[in-house]
Amino acid sequence: MNDRIKHLAGEHGLDLIGVAKAEPGKYNKHLREWLDKGFEGEMAYMSNNVEKREDPRKLEPWAKTIICAAVNYSADAPYSIDPRPSNQGWIARYAWGDDYHDAFKKTLFGFADAMREDFGEDVQLKVCLDTAPILDRAYAAYSGIGWLGKNTCVIHRKLGSFIFLGEIVTNLELEPTPAETDHCGTCTACIDACPTDAILEPYVLDSRRCISYLTIELRDNIPEEFREDMGTHIFGCDICQDVCPWNRKSPRTQRLEYQPRPGSVAPPIKELLEMSEEDFRQRFRKSPVKRAKYSGLMRNACVAAGNSGDASLISSLKKAAEAAPIVAEHAEWAIRKLGQNDLKNDANE
Ligand code: SF4
Ligand code: SF4
Repeated sequence: MNDRIKHLAGEHGLDLIGVAKAEPGKYNKHLREWLDKGFEGEMAYMSNNVEKREDPRKLEPWAKTIICAAVNYSADAPYSIDPRPSNQGWIARYAWGDDYHDAFKKTLFGFADAMREDFGEDVQLKVCLDTAPILDRAYAAYSGIGWLGKNTCVIHRKLGSFIFLGEIVTNLELEPTPAETDHCGTCTACIDACPTDAILEPYVLDSRRCISYLTIELRDNIPEEFREDMGTHIFGCDICQDVCPWNRKSPRTQRLEYQPRPGSVAPPIKELLEMSEEDFRQRFRKSPVKRAKYSGLMRNACVAAGNSGDASLISSLKKAAEAAPIVAEHAEWAIRKLGQNDLKNDANE
């Protein structure tokens, strides 16, 4: 049966497929501990439905198996750790192209339909793509899609970690595929490179310190203690994946939907600061970046401007401050910082 599923998955454009039992495994039990420490920050969805996250049979009583799927989204473009002009922002790799929720969901539903044709109308198949309380990384690891790296990403030996994960929960009783062994070894590159020390220890991430959380999930002011270390990241962060040796030789995706849209990798900060809400809507239509919302992205662009060292951005920051009170607060911070830089430069001349 697994060979048939593998074949259908390949036909529907899935790069990787694995099968896990729909029951708790070794990672599920860490969830409560992680939540008890408050590491999820404002991601309330992580603390909702904990019982279901701990045991997928509580999500669907008929669940017997979780089929895990992955697609490579790594487009051929530079890494965030490569040198670039300081007045350009950075958008995380997964958000360069179209919103994966739309494209990947279509792929998964196509695969599920093909399975239904093969296994009959009575088979239960629930497609999940960030839509159900499932520990997607844990099940990807149980099913052998990859291992959970010290940076908490799922890493595949050939494709690396720039992969989207999706699941199909089913009542079919399938033979689980073996889990992958951990190939991180003695490497600590991701922990050493994280600018905000968000990876507290191998395999433990405090989301509240992570730039991805700070630029996307956090709706409030960004705590000042992290602003400088955020550099010019304006949406997400790839540093702990970009330094990972397993991503260095991974193949690039040819899928059109994940290729970078114009100006989506390292947009000039000035351009962002001067964007109207309507410009934002048009520019990031069907892009994952729209999740940050206009005021969120403007807030992030202000922090990036403050870290750019480019005092010519001050006039754009003053304009951006009119967008919303939260943007104004971050613009003021950035102006102060750029002003201090200017004073320092004057003193050194
Ligand atoms: S995404 Fe960035 S901030 Fe978050 S853990 Fe990785 S390197 Fe650190
Ligand atoms: S950088 Fe090294 S330690 Fe971190 S996930 Fe990659 S292999 Fe593992």
